[in-house]
Parts: sequence; structure tokens; C-alpha cells
Amino acid sequence: SAVRLADALSELNPQQRDAVLFGVTAGAPATPPLLVIAGAGSGKTNTLAHRVAHLIINGADPHRIMMLTFSRRAAAEMDRRVGHVLRQVMKLASTQSPPSLPWSGTFHALGARLLREYAGHIGLADDFTVHDRGDAEDLMGIARHDLGLSATEKRFPLKATCLSVYSRTVNSQAPLTEVLDQHFPWCAAWHDELRKLFAAYVDAKQAQHALDYDDLLVYWAEMMEIPELAAAVSARFDHILIDEYQDTNRLQAAILLAMKPDGRGLTVVGDDAQSIYSFRAATVRNILDFPGQFATPADVITLDRNYRSTQPILDASNAVIALSSERYAKALWTDRASELRPRLVTVSDEAGQARWVADQVLAQREAGTVLKSQAVLFRTGSHSANLELELTRRNIPFVKFGGLKFLEAAHVKDVLSLLRWAQNPRSRLAGFRVTQLVPGVGPATAGKLLDAMETSTAPMDTLRAFTFPGAAGADWQTLVAAYDILRRPDATWPADMDTALEWYLPQLVRLFEDAPVRQGDLDQLSRIAALYGSREQFLTELTLDPPDATSDESGVPLRDEDYLILSTIHSAKGQEWKAVYVLNVIDGCIPSDMSTGTAAEIEEERRLLYVAMTRAKESLQLVVPQRFYVHNQTGRGDRHVYASRTRFIPDAVAKLFDAYPKRPPPGEPILGAVPPSVLPRVDIGGRLRGRWS
Ligand code: ATP
Ligand code: MG
Repeated sequence: SAVRLADALSELNPQQRDAVLFGVTAGAPATPPLLVIAGAGSGKTNTLAHRVAHLIINGADPHRIMMLTFSRRAAAEMDRRVGHVLRQVMKLASTQSPPSLPWSGTFHALGARLLREYAGHIGLADDFTVHDRGDAEDLMGIARHDLGLSATEKRFPLKATCLSVYSRTVNSQAPLTEVLDQHFPWCAAWHDELRKLFAAYVDAKQAQHALDYDDLLVYWAEMMEIPELAAAVSARFDHILIDEYQDTNRLQAAILLAMKPDGRGLTVVGDDAQSIYSFRAATVRNILDFPGQFATPADVITLDRNYRSTQPILDASNAVIALSSERYAKALWTDRASELRPRLVTVSDEAGQARWVADQVLAQREAGTVLKSQAVLFRTGSHSANLELELTRRNIPFVKFGGLKFLEAAHVKDVLSLLRWAQNPRSRLAGFRVTQLVPGVGPATAGKLLDAMETSTAPMDTLRAFTFPGAAGADWQTLVAAYDILRRPDATWPADMDTALEWYLPQLVRLFEDAPVRQGDLDQLSRIAALYGSREQFLTELTLDPPDATSDESGVPLRDEDYLILSTIHSAKGQEWKAVYVLNVIDGCIPSDMSTGTAAEIEEERRLLYVAMTRAKESLQLVVPQRFYVHNQTGRGDRHVYASRTRFIPDAVAKLFDAYPKRPPPGEPILGAVPPSVLPRVDIGGRLRGRWS
């Protein structure tokens, strides 16, 4: 097997090999702490996968390895790569699966898994519900209302804002005052009320046996403060490896340190030039401070060879990041020469942009690049609206990542709520939603029932005995019957899903005019359900990492179909495509007007553009519409405004691109008949900020 091992390693360059083998010895006892910090496309993720495989080959127990990734998709990709190396070394056929794979997933998913295991020790019911962002907002809204804070004349922050403040405070582990001053100054006057509100919100969650996303980390961190539990949990894992470490927050770093206080067994990997999640309280300090936090400082390995992109794409990306005020100590090189330079494409407006991209996508497909190897990236989910219409019109299939809506759709939420309420009868939020689906049942009746169930020792009996006025009776009985089946101890999965749907379909037809379309979503939900082993697993994982939105109502295209990728830049992290298009490379979008408050925010937007550009392997096109549609912000109506190329590509950097068209046709103003001087000039940033004042 020594020969095969050498085979697997021979694909790697010397620095990558150092990183894979660092501290690994026979029997694979815990290795000293290691940081791999390196630029985009230098093979960090790949190296991490090889390292996990080599730990296993050297005798590490896969069940004692924890692999933390940024998304469930990234976790699946990591499993695939680890499996690939293992198969290569073990000479397994591609259909055989290797013995077993490590615990892999996001911090939140693995947190949920651990918390269920240790629930009994930390005062949690093991049937706890995980609230998604929408649920959390609703609950915050209820708490806000109960405290009398929602009266409009008081102008108290909206429930979504309250949740953002709460979440940021929790994740940054900073005092509320500091978070308000630094990030939500317009809410600072409400400090005392917010504190009271958050206390009520926490109470409400606990009463309902519900955890929100943040709680999955908070409970994990708290658990690690009890010495006996910390010892037990830490001892479960010999090795913990984390990808994309630059986008973790303080709380995650604290958890990691508590899991491995001396750093033994820890490997973290990341790129400070790609840190793009500070709006979620991620801090690049985590990666920079990593080596120094242990008694014996961690070793640091850097990789400087890029394997992803051609030289012209890399030159342009390097030039963009080089203008940053921060110092990133990595200049990447590649031996992938190419004649094809990246393109800066000027189009008249967003409609022109959509047509251009659709044309190019088809042209590249003609030339042999399948749709799946092409991706269109943008700053915010809404930026692809025009393109989505154009693609639909031309029958070009696509899948959209980020900015997802599937689980937020009312009918999907209805069905999930019934399953959740059955899983956890204390989930008032779910119960409230489901009972009101019965015709004739309003909030008052629903509230009365839930109160009665909450105080009852036999909630199911209370439910059965509950009588409704008038016509609700018969419809009510069908819900009780379905709930009864779902609550049975011998309920099975995914049969539960059928039970829920059977009850729900008549409601769907009654509630929605477009019921047939929505039925397609429910069919898809049912297909997704079949992929999970249990109801509990389904509900938790679906909440944590929902499936992606798609181009047609019938759901995710089948695996072997070809489709174009549409993605926010944030969701494109870690991935690569042969051809990449970036939309709206203009000031106001990148950097976003929402983010140009501070120098630090602008720097983050620069890194965002860098992340977008470094996704491209062979072809990169940045599109610059000259007019941009601004939505009504202050009652002055929607309008087009003039846009200019992003400040991150000044003329000196633009020289590294091919301009298209070469120059505007002479005598014909690009914008058509309207001379620039008569179009209004608008301070978009001021308008957006005005919303908060
Ligand atoms: P990012 O910063 O975007 O997350 P990364 O550093 O994680 O990038 P990978 O995704 O691991 O980089 O690798 C980028 C590409 O380079 C992949 O296609 C990978 O297969 C390839 N690659 C990595 N190392 C090598 C190597 N030694 N030889 C050939 N190809 C390699
Ligand atoms: Mg990576």
C-alpha cells in the first residue's frame, strides 16, 4: 500500500504534501495544530480532503474525525473528494464505497447533531425544533407585540432588525451596547427595551422547546463550559478540520478552542483575502490569531500555486486585490497560459445585460462548454430577475443558489409546520399556523386551544376533546385524525409525509388559486423527504440548509440534466466553473450601496469581487450596465440612474481586460435618445441610508 499512497500524494505539490502529511504518524494520534493559509484556487480544500483521507489510511477512526465545512453542498463535495482518495489508495472499484466517512457538515448541522445526543444532560428536550430565520422573526415579532413595543408611533425597530441585532450580539460575543453603537446606531436609543425583548424571546424559545440557528452554536459553546461535558465531547473527536476558516465568527472559534484547548488534532484552512461574511459577525481575526492561541504556536503552511485559473484571469484578480488597503501576503502564480483575456463588457442596461449573458451562454455551449460548467454570479438575489426572465423565455434551464425561496413558500411551510407540530407539540408557532388552516378557526380559537394543550398533562386528549363552534367540526376532525397518526410512537418516515400531504391537499385547493403549481412543490418536498432517514433528521437538516430554488415549478432538474448555475457571490464560495459571468459590476452594486458606510465595509466588497473573479477557470466576463434601475425608496418613483464601472477596477486594472465593445460606435450615444444631462442624478446611497433615519 506504500506504493499506492505515493500515487495519491504524487498529484500534490511539495507544499500541499507537507500540509497533508504534517504530524501524521502511524495510528494517527492527534497531530499538532496546523494552519494552511493560501489564496483562491491553490488547492486548500483539495489538500484538506487528502489530509482526512491520509489520517484514515494511517489508522484514524473516521467516526472520530470532525470535518467542518461552510455549507451542506461543500460537505458533500468534501465527502466525495475524501472518498475518491480512499478508493484510489485502497484500489476499490468506483461503485464500492470506502468503509466509512467522517462526521462532516456545517458548524450548525454538527451542533444540532451533538445537542440531540447530549440533550438530556443540558436540560434540552431531545425533540427540540430548529427555527429557521422566518420562524425566528415571527417569534421575535410575537414577543415584541406582547411587550407592547410594536405600537407604530413608537417607531420601534422591525422584528427582522431586532433579530439581526440579537444574532450579531450572540455571534460576536460582544456587549449589546457595543453592537448597537457599531452596527445599529439608529437602534441605540432602544437599548433597554431590546434587552427586555431578547429576554422574552429567549423565554419563548425555551417554553416551546425551540432553538434558532444561533442557539445551535450557543448551546454547544455553553455545553463546553461544563468541565465534565466538555471532556466527554472533546474526547469523542481526535481530529477536527475546518475549511473556509476566515468566515467563522467568535463563537465558532470559542467552540473550537474549547473542543481542543491545546490545539492538538486541529487543522484549519482559509484565505484572509476571501473573508466576506463579516455582516454575519464573522471575523478574519480568527484565522490571523489562530497560530498564537496555543501554548505551542501552530505551524503555518502557505500555498502559492493556483491550479484553477488561467494566467490572464489570475493577473486581473491579483490586480483587484492588490489595491486593497489590507495586506495579503500571497501572490499566486500558475502555469496555465492562455490567449483569452477576461472581458469587461459594457451594455446599455439590465435588459441588455440579460440578453448579452444569454447569448454568450448559448455561444459557449455551442463551443463545447456545457451549461453546468457556466455560472452567472451577482451581488444580491434580486439582481438576477431580468436574466431569469430572459432564460425562461429562451428555454435555457437554470438552477439558482442563494436567495432561496422554496421553504419560505406558504404551502411548503404549512406542511412542514404540521410535521413539526407533531414532532414537538410544544411548538406554539407550528401549532398556531396549522390550526388556523382549518376553515373557521382564527387566532383567538387557536390561542385558546394551544393554551389548553400547554397546561394539559395529556395534550392529545385535550386536542380531541376540544370543541369548535359550528361548521368547523368536521374539518377539525380530519386534522385531529392526521395529527393523531403523526403522534403515534410507531409513526414511520417518509410515510408521515404522505399522511401530512393527504390532509393538506384539500386545504391547498381551497386556499390557493394556483394549487396545481404549488402541488408540484409539494411533490418535490415529498421526493426530498424520501432522502432522509427520519422525520427528525429531515426537519432539522431542511431547516438548516434548505434545497435550492429552481427554474421550474416541478423542482430540481434531474442529476443528469444540463442547467446553467445562477448564484449570489456569497453562495459561490469555494466553487469553480469553466466560464463565469459577473452581473452589475458597477458602483452601487459592487460595492453595494448598503455597504459603503465604512472603509472596512468597502474592503469587504472588494474581496467579494475577488471571490467572484477567482471562480473562473477559463473564461471570465464582468458586465457593466450603463443604466441601472432603482426602485422607489422615498416616494419619488422608480427610475433609471446612470451607473459607472466599479471603483475596484480603475483604468490601470481595466488594461488587463479586453473591452467589449471595443469602443462605442461613433456619433451614436450608447444610451439612445436621452442626453445624459436631462436624466436625473440621484444619491442612491443617501436614499438607502435615509430609510434608517
Ligand atoms: P478556494 O479558495 O476558492 O476555496 P481552494 O484553495 O480550496 O480554492 P481547491 O478548490 O481545492 O482550491 O482547488 C482548486 C482547483 O485546483 C481544483 O479543481 C483542484 O482539483 C485543482 N488542484 C488543486 N491542487 C492540485 C494539484 N496539485 N494538481 C492539479 N490540480 C490541483
Ligand atoms: Mg476551497
